[in-house]
Amino acid sequence: MFKKVINLLLKIENFILPETCLNCRRAGQALCPACRVQIKKIPERCPTCGRRQNLGLFCQKCRQTHRTISFDGIFAYTSEDDQIMTKAIKALKYQGVKSLGRILGKMLGRRLVISWKQAPASIKKRNTIIIPMPLHPRRQRARGFNHSQLIAAGIAQVSGWLINENLKRKAWHKPNAVSLDNQKTFVYKGKLLTGNNIILVDDAIATGATAQAAAQALKTAGADTVIVATLTQSF
Ligand SMILES: [Zn+2]
Ligand SMILES: [Zn+2]
Repeated sequence: MFKKVINLLLKIENFILPETCLNCRRAGQALCPACRVQIKKIPERCPTCGRRQNLGLFCQKCRQTHRTISFDGIFAYTSEDDQIMTKAIKALKYQGVKSLGRILGKMLGRRLVISWKQAPASIKKRNTIIIPMPLHPRRQRARGFNHSQLIAAGIAQVSGWLINENLKRKAWHKPNAVSLDNQKTFVYKGKLLTGNNIILVDDAIATGATAQAAAQALKTAGADTVIVATLTQSF
């Protein structure tokens, strides 16, 4: 009983009190502007050789040697060891500080919009659609929201690109010991994506296996270019 009352009071407190910055505790927003600028941006580069590349697209040479990779680039805000970003992602995903989704999404989106101005003409002439990385249905039910959708909303707000939520993740399936058939984890259920650039949104990219599986489903649905937009990159 006592515990229930305390929990209720904490909920009320969260509701009434203004948010405080997760890094400096200043009242106002879940991540204050002064702490946002401390997050170290990483340059846009080819995902495999590291050469500077607009939007994090593969350079020509790497694109030729890595033809089986389904996404065309990785646009990352910072690296996985940035402490403020790591704290922010944790608060968003595991403490349910949903307002961080839009804050971080807008930060990522603003950078993306600036870089887009320098994008190759072949990309610029096409329509662009934002697609959040879906969660496993069971995980989404447990968490109550998909953090990638919230980040995508922030990107949409600053870019004007529309969000499409037709990429679905299939329910958990038994991993196959011989080959983990990632490709079939995702399915795109919607109008064909032919003639569109896709911004595939996730909070982090570690091995790239999930992004590869999702991008493969999008390419099968006709997508022309798939750029993974992420808050952190591990490699
Ligand atoms: Zn702060
Ligand atoms: Zn390269």
